Amino acid sequence: MQQWDVIVIGAGAAGLFCAIEAAKRGRKTLVLDNGKRIGRKILMSGGGRCNFTNMYASPANFLSQNKHFCKSALSRYTQWDFLALVQQYQIPYHEKTLGQLFCDNSAKDIVDMLQQECDKAGVQIALQQEIQTVTFNDGQYQLQTNGLSRSCQSLVVASGGLSLPNLGATAFGFQLAEQFGLKVLPVRAGLVPLTWQPDDKAVYEEISGVSLPVTAEANDVVFPEDMLFTHRGLSGPAILQVSSFWQPGDEVVVNLSPQQSVQDFLSEAQQKHPEQELKTALSRLLPKRLVEKLLEQNLLTNQPLKALNAKSSQRIAGLLHHFVFKPNGTEGYRTAEVTLGGVDTDELSSKTMEAKKQPGLYFIGEVVDVTGWLGGYNFQWAWSSGWVAGQYC
Ligand SMILES: Cc1cc2nc3c(=O)[nH]c(=O)nc-3n(C[C@H](O)[C@H](O)[C@H](O)COP(=O)(O)OP(=O)(O)OC[C@H]3O[C@@H](n4cnc5c(N)ncnc54)[C@H](O)[C@@H]3O)c2cc1C
Repeated sequence: MQQWDVIVIGAGAAGLFCAIEAAKRGRKTLVLDNGKRIGRKILMSGGGRCNFTNMYASPANFLSQNKHFCKSALSRYTQWDFLALVQQYQIPYHEKTLGQLFCDNSAKDIVDMLQQECDKAGVQIALQQEIQTVTFNDGQYQLQTNGLSRSCQSLVVASGGLSLPNLGATAFGFQLAEQFGLKVLPVRAGLVPLTWQPDDKAVYEEISGVSLPVTAEANDVVFPEDMLFTHRGLSGPAILQVSSFWQPGDEVVVNLSPQQSVQDFLSEAQQKHPEQELKTALSRLLPKRLVEKLLEQNLLTNQPLKALNAKSSQRIAGLLHHFVFKPNGTEGYRTAEVTLGGVDTDELSSKTMEAKKQPGLYFIGEVVDVTGWLGGYNFQWAWSSGWVAGQYC
Protein backbone atom coordinates (compact mmCIF):
# COMPACT_ATOMS: atom_id res chain seq x y z
CA MET A 1 0.00 0.00 0.00
CA GLN A 2 1.43 3.36 -1.05
CA GLN A 3 1.08 6.02 1.64
CA TRP A 4 0.60 9.72 0.73
CA ASP A 5 -0.24 12.84 2.72
CA VAL A 6 -2.41 14.22 -0.06
CA ILE A 7 -3.98 12.65 -3.14
CA VAL A 8 -5.61 15.00 -5.63
CA ILE A 9 -8.02 13.51 -8.18
CA GLY A 10 -7.87 15.46 -11.44
CA ALA A 11 -4.84 17.02 -13.14
CA GLY A 12 -6.76 20.04 -14.40
CA ALA A 13 -6.38 23.67 -13.40
CA ALA A 14 -7.73 23.33 -9.85
CA GLY A 15 -6.08 19.99 -9.02
CA LEU A 16 -2.61 20.96 -10.22
CA PHE A 17 -2.76 24.30 -8.44
CA CYS A 18 -3.82 22.69 -5.17
CA ALA A 19 -1.13 20.00 -5.44
CA ILE A 20 1.59 22.63 -5.98
CA GLU A 21 0.55 24.52 -2.85
CA ALA A 22 0.24 21.37 -0.74
CA ALA A 23 3.66 20.10 -1.84
CA LYS A 24 5.21 23.51 -1.12
CA ARG A 25 4.06 22.99 2.48
CA GLY A 26 6.04 19.78 2.57
CA ARG A 27 3.08 17.46 2.05
CA LYS A 28 3.84 14.30 0.09
CA THR A 29 1.41 14.87 -2.77
CA LEU A 30 0.18 12.74 -5.67
CA VAL A 31 -2.14 13.79 -8.50
CA LEU A 32 -4.17 11.10 -10.27
CA ASP A 33 -5.85 11.64 -13.64
CA ASN A 34 -7.71 9.38 -16.04
CA GLY A 35 -6.16 11.04 -19.12
CA LYS A 36 -2.88 10.67 -20.96
CA ARG A 37 -1.68 14.20 -20.17
CA ILE A 38 -2.20 16.97 -17.65
CA GLY A 39 -4.27 20.12 -18.23
CA ARG A 40 -6.17 18.88 -21.27
CA LYS A 41 -8.93 21.47 -20.93
CA ILE A 42 -6.41 24.25 -20.41
CA LEU A 43 -4.76 23.27 -23.70
CA MET A 44 -7.95 23.68 -25.68
CA SER A 45 -9.33 26.64 -23.77
CA GLY A 46 -9.71 30.11 -25.21
CA GLY A 47 -9.35 28.78 -28.76
CA GLY A 48 -5.91 27.34 -27.84
CA ARG A 49 -4.73 30.56 -26.15
CA CYS A 50 -6.29 30.05 -22.69
CA ASN A 51 -8.19 32.98 -21.25
CA PHE A 52 -6.45 32.32 -17.93
CA THR A 53 -8.05 35.05 -15.81
CA ASN A 54 -9.98 38.29 -15.91
CA MET A 55 -8.68 41.59 -14.57
CA TYR A 56 -12.13 42.49 -13.25
CA ALA A 57 -12.91 39.12 -11.61
CA SER A 58 -15.12 39.58 -8.57
CA PRO A 59 -17.74 37.47 -6.77
CA ALA A 60 -20.42 39.18 -8.90
CA ASN A 61 -19.18 37.20 -11.93
CA PHE A 62 -20.13 33.82 -10.48
CA LEU A 63 -23.32 31.77 -10.27
CA SER A 64 -23.95 29.65 -7.19
CA GLN A 65 -26.85 28.85 -4.93
CA ASN A 66 -24.84 30.68 -2.25
CA LYS A 67 -23.39 33.72 -3.98
CA HIS A 68 -21.22 34.56 -0.95
CA PHE A 69 -19.35 31.25 -0.92
CA CYS A 70 -16.72 32.16 -3.53
CA LYS A 71 -15.76 35.45 -1.84
CA SER A 72 -13.19 34.04 0.58
CA ALA A 73 -11.14 32.06 -1.96
CA LEU A 74 -11.31 34.80 -4.62
CA SER A 75 -10.06 37.39 -2.15
CA ARG A 76 -7.24 35.24 -0.81
CA TYR A 77 -5.85 34.23 -4.19
CA THR A 78 -6.73 36.91 -6.72
CA GLN A 79 -6.34 37.42 -10.46
CA TRP A 80 -3.33 39.64 -9.65
CA ASP A 81 -1.65 36.78 -7.80
CA PHE A 82 -2.08 34.48 -10.79
CA LEU A 83 -0.94 37.21 -13.15
CA ALA A 84 2.22 37.69 -11.06
CA LEU A 85 3.00 33.99 -11.56
CA VAL A 86 2.42 34.27 -15.32
CA GLN A 87 4.76 37.28 -15.38
CA GLN A 88 7.36 35.45 -13.29
CA TYR A 89 7.44 32.78 -16.04
CA GLN A 90 7.63 35.54 -18.67
CA ILE A 91 4.63 34.17 -20.50
CA PRO A 92 3.54 36.74 -23.08
CA TYR A 93 -0.14 37.70 -22.72
CA HIS A 94 -2.61 40.37 -23.75
CA GLU A 95 -6.03 41.71 -22.83
CA LYS A 96 -8.44 40.72 -25.58
CA THR A 97 -11.55 42.52 -24.38
CA LEU A 98 -13.45 43.24 -21.14
CA GLY A 99 -10.44 42.42 -18.95
CA GLN A 100 -9.98 38.94 -20.46
CA LEU A 101 -6.29 37.92 -20.37
CA PHE A 102 -5.07 35.44 -23.01
CA CYS A 103 -1.67 33.93 -23.82
CA ASP A 104 -0.08 35.57 -26.88
CA ASN A 105 1.30 32.25 -28.08
CA SER A 106 -0.34 29.15 -26.72
CA ALA A 107 -2.23 27.68 -23.78
CA LYS A 108 0.66 25.24 -23.57
CA ASP A 109 2.64 28.04 -21.86
CA ILE A 110 0.26 27.80 -18.89
CA VAL A 111 0.42 23.99 -18.76
CA ASP A 112 4.23 24.09 -18.98
CA MET A 113 4.29 26.61 -16.13
CA LEU A 114 2.10 24.33 -13.97
CA GLN A 115 4.28 21.31 -14.81
CA GLN A 116 7.42 23.25 -13.80
CA GLU A 117 5.77 24.38 -10.55
CA CYS A 118 4.82 20.75 -9.85
CA ASP A 119 8.38 19.61 -10.51
CA LYS A 120 9.83 22.35 -8.30
CA ALA A 121 7.51 21.52 -5.41
CA GLY A 122 7.95 17.75 -5.80
CA VAL A 123 4.39 16.86 -6.84
CA GLN A 124 4.07 13.33 -8.25
CA ILE A 125 1.63 12.76 -11.10
CA ALA A 126 0.15 9.43 -12.22
CA LEU A 127 -1.79 9.43 -15.50
CA GLN A 128 -4.27 7.00 -17.05
CA GLN A 129 -5.58 6.04 -13.63
CA GLU A 130 -9.04 4.54 -13.31
CA ILE A 131 -10.18 4.92 -9.73
CA GLN A 132 -12.29 1.93 -8.80
CA THR A 133 -13.12 2.49 -5.15
CA VAL A 134 -12.57 5.06 -2.42
CA THR A 135 -13.08 4.11 1.23
CA PHE A 136 -12.42 5.87 4.55
CA ASN A 137 -11.07 4.04 7.61
CA ASP A 138 -9.28 5.28 10.72
CA GLY A 139 -8.79 8.79 9.35
CA GLN A 140 -7.28 7.52 6.07
CA TYR A 141 -8.71 7.41 2.54
CA GLN A 142 -7.97 4.24 0.56
CA LEU A 143 -8.06 4.32 -3.22
CA GLN A 144 -7.98 1.33 -5.54
CA THR A 145 -6.67 2.14 -9.02
CA ASN A 146 -5.45 -0.17 -11.77
CA GLY A 147 -4.76 -2.91 -9.25
CA LEU A 148 -2.81 -0.58 -6.93
CA SER A 149 -3.81 0.44 -3.39
CA ARG A 150 -2.99 3.91 -2.16
CA SER A 151 -3.90 5.65 1.02
CA CYS A 152 -3.81 9.30 2.09
CA GLN A 153 -4.74 11.63 4.90
CA SER A 154 -6.30 14.30 2.67
CA LEU A 155 -8.25 13.55 -0.48
CA VAL A 156 -8.89 16.47 -2.83
CA VAL A 157 -11.52 16.04 -5.53
CA ALA A 158 -10.77 18.21 -8.56
CA SER A 159 -12.35 16.05 -11.23
CA GLY A 160 -14.26 18.90 -12.91
CA GLY A 161 -17.72 18.88 -14.45
CA LEU A 162 -19.43 16.99 -17.25
CA SER A 163 -18.60 19.19 -20.24
CA LEU A 164 -16.61 17.61 -23.06
CA PRO A 165 -17.05 13.92 -22.18
CA ASN A 166 -14.61 12.98 -24.94
CA LEU A 167 -11.91 14.85 -22.98
CA GLY A 168 -12.30 12.58 -19.94
CA ALA A 169 -15.10 14.37 -18.09
CA THR A 170 -16.89 12.06 -15.63
CA ALA A 171 -19.47 12.33 -12.88
CA PHE A 172 -16.88 10.92 -10.48
CA GLY A 173 -16.74 13.94 -8.15
CA PHE A 174 -20.51 14.16 -7.78
CA GLN A 175 -20.77 10.42 -7.08
CA LEU A 176 -17.98 10.55 -4.52
CA ALA A 177 -19.67 13.48 -2.75
CA GLU A 178 -22.89 11.46 -2.57
CA GLN A 179 -20.99 8.40 -1.36
CA PHE A 180 -19.90 10.47 1.66
CA GLY A 181 -23.39 11.84 2.22
CA LEU A 182 -22.81 15.32 0.78
CA LYS A 183 -25.61 17.03 -1.14
CA VAL A 184 -25.08 17.56 -4.87
CA LEU A 185 -27.25 20.18 -6.57
CA PRO A 186 -28.74 19.34 -9.99
CA VAL A 187 -26.27 19.88 -12.82
CA ARG A 188 -26.81 21.32 -16.31
CA ALA A 189 -24.71 22.60 -19.19
CA GLY A 190 -23.63 26.27 -19.04
CA LEU A 191 -21.83 28.63 -21.44
CA VAL A 192 -23.39 26.63 -24.24
CA PRO A 193 -25.02 27.45 -27.62
CA LEU A 194 -28.83 27.51 -27.65
CA THR A 195 -30.74 25.57 -30.33
CA TRP A 196 -33.64 26.57 -32.60
CA GLN A 197 -37.15 25.20 -32.45
CA PRO A 198 -37.62 23.11 -35.65
CA ASP A 199 -39.59 25.88 -37.44
CA ASP A 200 -36.99 28.53 -36.65
CA LYS A 201 -34.20 26.18 -37.71
CA ALA A 202 -35.73 25.87 -41.19
CA VAL A 203 -35.75 29.68 -41.44
CA TYR A 204 -32.48 30.75 -39.89
CA GLU A 205 -30.04 27.94 -40.67
CA GLU A 206 -29.50 29.58 -44.06
CA ILE A 207 -27.85 32.59 -42.45
CA SER A 208 -25.46 30.56 -40.32
CA GLY A 209 -22.16 32.40 -40.01
CA VAL A 210 -23.80 35.83 -39.62
CA SER A 211 -22.48 37.59 -36.53
CA LEU A 212 -23.29 40.97 -35.00
CA PRO A 213 -22.92 42.90 -31.72
CA VAL A 214 -26.11 42.62 -29.62
CA THR A 215 -27.35 42.61 -26.10
CA ALA A 216 -28.96 39.30 -25.11
CA GLU A 217 -31.23 38.89 -22.12
CA ALA A 218 -32.57 35.88 -20.24
CA ASN A 219 -34.26 36.05 -16.85
CA ASP A 220 -33.48 39.77 -16.48
CA VAL A 221 -29.74 39.26 -16.95
CA VAL A 222 -28.31 41.18 -19.92
CA PHE A 223 -24.97 40.72 -21.70
CA PRO A 224 -23.63 43.03 -24.39
CA GLU A 225 -21.38 41.02 -26.72
CA ASP A 226 -21.39 39.38 -30.16
CA MET A 227 -23.99 36.86 -31.31
CA LEU A 228 -23.52 34.24 -34.02
CA PHE A 229 -26.17 32.46 -36.11
CA THR A 230 -25.26 28.77 -36.49
CA HIS A 231 -26.86 25.84 -38.32
CA ARG A 232 -28.40 24.62 -35.09
CA GLY A 233 -29.21 27.86 -33.25
CA LEU A 234 -27.54 30.88 -31.72
CA SER A 235 -24.06 31.08 -30.27
CA GLY A 236 -21.33 33.68 -29.74
CA PRO A 237 -20.29 35.20 -26.40
CA ALA A 238 -23.59 37.03 -25.72
CA ILE A 239 -25.60 33.81 -26.10
CA LEU A 240 -23.09 31.65 -24.18
CA GLN A 241 -23.30 34.13 -21.30
CA VAL A 242 -27.12 34.15 -21.12
CA SER A 243 -27.29 30.36 -21.57
CA SER A 244 -26.13 29.98 -17.95
CA PHE A 245 -29.16 31.97 -16.80
CA TRP A 246 -31.64 30.37 -19.24
CA GLN A 247 -34.01 27.60 -18.16
CA PRO A 248 -36.04 25.38 -20.52
CA GLY A 249 -39.17 27.20 -21.65
CA ASP A 250 -37.68 30.70 -21.13
CA GLU A 251 -37.40 33.26 -23.90
CA VAL A 252 -34.21 35.05 -24.87
CA VAL A 253 -34.66 38.67 -25.94
CA VAL A 254 -32.03 40.06 -28.29
CA ASN A 255 -31.47 43.71 -29.08
CA LEU A 256 -30.05 43.57 -32.61
CA SER A 257 -29.06 47.24 -32.58
CA PRO A 258 -27.91 48.00 -29.04
CA GLN A 259 -25.77 51.01 -29.87
CA GLN A 260 -28.09 52.87 -32.20
CA SER A 261 -31.78 53.73 -31.80
CA VAL A 262 -33.48 52.24 -34.87
CA GLN A 263 -36.10 54.99 -34.86
CA ASP A 264 -33.46 57.75 -34.88
CA PHE A 265 -31.56 55.90 -37.59
CA LEU A 266 -34.65 55.58 -39.78
CA SER A 267 -35.79 59.17 -39.35
CA GLU A 268 -32.33 60.47 -40.24
CA ALA A 269 -32.09 58.12 -43.22
CA GLN A 270 -35.57 59.18 -44.34
CA GLN A 271 -34.57 62.84 -44.35
CA LYS A 272 -31.29 62.28 -46.17
CA HIS A 273 -32.34 59.59 -48.67
CA PRO A 274 -36.16 59.54 -48.97
CA GLU A 275 -36.05 57.43 -52.16
CA GLN A 276 -33.78 54.77 -50.64
CA GLU A 277 -35.29 51.37 -49.94
CA LEU A 278 -35.64 50.13 -46.37
CA LYS A 279 -33.51 47.07 -47.22
CA THR A 280 -30.60 49.25 -48.37
CA ALA A 281 -30.85 51.53 -45.35
CA LEU A 282 -31.07 48.73 -42.77
CA SER A 283 -28.14 46.93 -44.39
CA ARG A 284 -26.00 49.80 -43.08
CA LEU A 285 -27.16 48.97 -39.57
CA LEU A 286 -27.29 45.16 -39.62
CA PRO A 287 -25.69 42.33 -41.64
CA LYS A 288 -27.32 42.28 -45.10
CA ARG A 289 -28.14 38.56 -44.95
CA LEU A 290 -30.08 39.09 -41.73
CA VAL A 291 -32.05 42.00 -43.22
CA GLU A 292 -32.86 39.88 -46.29
CA LYS A 293 -34.04 37.03 -44.04
CA LEU A 294 -36.33 39.32 -42.04
CA LEU A 295 -37.80 40.63 -45.32
CA GLU A 296 -38.23 37.12 -46.69
CA GLN A 297 -40.13 36.18 -43.52
CA ASN A 298 -42.38 39.25 -43.93
CA LEU A 299 -41.20 40.51 -40.57
CA LEU A 300 -40.17 43.63 -42.50
CA THR A 301 -41.69 45.09 -45.68
CA ASN A 302 -39.38 46.60 -48.22
CA GLN A 303 -40.48 50.10 -49.29
CA PRO A 304 -38.97 53.52 -49.99
CA LEU A 305 -38.05 55.26 -46.77
CA LYS A 306 -40.37 58.18 -47.61
CA ALA A 307 -43.33 55.76 -47.30
CA LEU A 308 -42.55 54.97 -43.65
CA ASN A 309 -44.83 56.63 -41.12
CA ALA A 310 -44.24 56.98 -37.38
CA LYS A 311 -46.16 53.79 -36.63
CA SER A 312 -44.24 51.62 -39.11
CA SER A 313 -40.88 53.01 -37.92
CA GLN A 314 -41.90 52.21 -34.37
CA ARG A 315 -42.86 48.67 -35.37
CA ILE A 316 -39.50 48.09 -37.10
CA ALA A 317 -37.66 49.48 -34.08
CA GLY A 318 -39.69 47.20 -31.81
CA LEU A 319 -38.77 44.15 -33.87
CA LEU A 320 -35.05 44.94 -34.02
CA HIS A 321 -34.62 46.07 -30.43
CA HIS A 322 -36.73 43.21 -29.12
CA PHE A 323 -36.05 40.10 -31.23
CA VAL A 324 -37.59 37.28 -29.20
CA PHE A 325 -36.21 33.78 -29.51
CA LYS A 326 -37.56 30.73 -27.72
CA PRO A 327 -34.79 28.12 -27.70
CA ASN A 328 -35.60 24.46 -28.07
CA GLY A 329 -32.74 23.60 -25.72
CA THR A 330 -28.96 23.77 -25.49
CA GLU A 331 -26.27 21.89 -27.36
CA GLY A 332 -25.54 20.09 -24.08
CA TYR A 333 -22.29 18.91 -22.56
CA ARG A 334 -20.82 18.06 -25.97
CA THR A 335 -20.01 21.75 -26.54
CA ALA A 336 -20.68 23.38 -23.14
CA GLU A 337 -17.74 25.15 -21.53
CA VAL A 338 -18.94 24.49 -17.99
CA THR A 339 -21.28 22.55 -15.74
CA LEU A 340 -23.66 24.52 -13.55
CA GLY A 341 -24.60 23.11 -10.14
CA GLY A 342 -22.55 20.41 -8.42
CA VAL A 343 -21.38 19.84 -4.85
CA ASP A 344 -23.53 22.06 -2.62
CA THR A 345 -21.39 24.81 -1.10
CA ASP A 346 -23.32 24.44 2.19
CA GLU A 347 -21.40 21.20 2.62
CA LEU A 348 -17.99 22.90 2.38
CA SER A 349 -15.93 25.38 4.35
CA SER A 350 -15.42 28.47 2.17
CA LYS A 351 -12.08 29.05 3.91
CA THR A 352 -10.55 25.62 3.30
CA MET A 353 -12.90 23.85 0.77
CA GLU A 354 -13.00 20.89 3.19
CA ALA A 355 -16.27 19.00 3.64
CA LYS A 356 -17.79 20.06 6.94
CA LYS A 357 -18.92 16.57 7.90
CA GLN A 358 -16.12 14.53 6.34
CA PRO A 359 -12.65 15.44 7.66
CA GLY A 360 -9.85 15.39 5.11
CA LEU A 361 -12.14 15.43 2.05
CA TYR A 362 -11.89 18.54 -0.14
CA PHE A 363 -13.73 19.66 -3.30
CA ILE A 364 -12.34 22.36 -5.59
CA GLY A 365 -12.85 23.83 -9.08
CA GLU A 366 -15.77 23.10 -11.35
CA VAL A 367 -17.10 20.11 -9.39
CA VAL A 368 -18.34 22.64 -6.80
CA ASP A 369 -21.53 24.65 -7.32
CA VAL A 370 -19.62 27.79 -8.35
CA THR A 371 -19.66 28.71 -12.04
CA GLY A 372 -18.13 31.77 -13.64
CA TRP A 373 -19.25 33.86 -16.57
CA LEU A 374 -17.43 33.52 -19.85
CA GLY A 375 -14.17 35.47 -19.81
CA GLY A 376 -11.47 33.79 -17.71
CA TYR A 377 -13.56 33.61 -14.53
CA ASN A 378 -13.77 29.82 -14.45
CA PHE A 379 -10.01 29.41 -14.45
CA GLN A 380 -9.73 32.06 -11.74
CA TRP A 381 -12.13 30.00 -9.61
CA ALA A 382 -9.99 26.91 -10.28
CA TRP A 383 -6.79 28.76 -9.24
CA SER A 384 -8.38 30.41 -6.17
CA SER A 385 -10.22 27.34 -4.83
CA GLY A 386 -7.20 25.13 -5.56
CA TRP A 387 -4.84 27.54 -3.84
CA VAL A 388 -6.89 27.80 -0.62
CA ALA A 389 -7.39 24.04 -0.36
CA GLY A 390 -3.64 23.65 -0.89
CA GLN A 391 -2.98 25.67 2.28
CA TYR A 392 -4.89 23.21 4.47
CA CYS A 393 -5.08 19.74 2.88
C1 LIG B 1 -13.72 24.24 -24.83
C2 LIG B 1 -13.56 24.92 -23.51
C3 LIG B 1 -12.91 26.14 -23.44
C4 LIG B 1 -12.80 26.81 -22.22
N1 LIG B 1 -12.14 28.02 -22.18
C5 LIG B 1 -12.01 28.66 -21.00
C6 LIG B 1 -11.26 29.86 -20.91
O1 LIG B 1 -10.64 30.31 -21.90
N2 LIG B 1 -11.21 30.50 -19.71
C7 LIG B 1 -11.83 30.00 -18.57
O2 LIG B 1 -11.74 30.62 -17.51
N3 LIG B 1 -12.48 28.82 -18.62
C8 LIG B 1 -12.58 28.14 -19.80
N4 LIG B 1 -13.24 26.95 -19.83
C9 LIG B 1 -13.73 26.37 -18.55
C10 LIG B 1 -12.54 25.75 -17.80
O3 LIG B 1 -11.81 24.93 -18.70
C11 LIG B 1 -12.99 24.92 -16.61
O4 LIG B 1 -13.87 25.68 -15.80
C12 LIG B 1 -11.79 24.48 -15.78
O5 LIG B 1 -10.94 23.69 -16.60
C13 LIG B 1 -12.21 23.71 -14.56
O6 LIG B 1 -11.05 23.25 -13.92
P1 LIG B 1 -11.08 21.94 -13.01
O7 LIG B 1 -9.66 21.72 -12.63
O8 LIG B 1 -12.10 22.08 -11.97
O9 LIG B 1 -11.58 20.78 -13.98
P2 LIG B 1 -10.94 20.19 -15.32
O10 LIG B 1 -10.05 21.18 -15.96
O11 LIG B 1 -12.09 19.67 -16.09
O12 LIG B 1 -10.03 18.99 -14.81
C14 LIG B 1 -10.58 17.82 -14.27
C15 LIG B 1 -9.62 16.69 -14.51
O13 LIG B 1 -10.10 15.55 -13.82
C16 LIG B 1 -9.98 14.42 -14.66
N5 LIG B 1 -10.97 13.43 -14.26
C17 LIG B 1 -12.32 13.47 -14.42
N6 LIG B 1 -12.88 12.36 -13.93
C18 LIG B 1 -11.87 11.60 -13.44
C19 LIG B 1 -11.81 10.31 -12.84
N7 LIG B 1 -12.91 9.59 -12.63
N8 LIG B 1 -10.60 9.83 -12.48
C20 LIG B 1 -9.47 10.52 -12.70
N9 LIG B 1 -9.47 11.74 -13.27
C21 LIG B 1 -10.64 12.27 -13.64
C22 LIG B 1 -10.22 14.97 -16.05
O14 LIG B 1 -9.67 14.15 -17.05
C23 LIG B 1 -9.51 16.30 -15.98
O15 LIG B 1 -8.16 16.20 -16.33
C24 LIG B 1 -13.35 26.25 -21.04
C25 LIG B 1 -13.98 25.01 -21.11
C26 LIG B 1 -14.08 24.34 -22.31
C27 LIG B 1 -14.76 23.01 -22.34
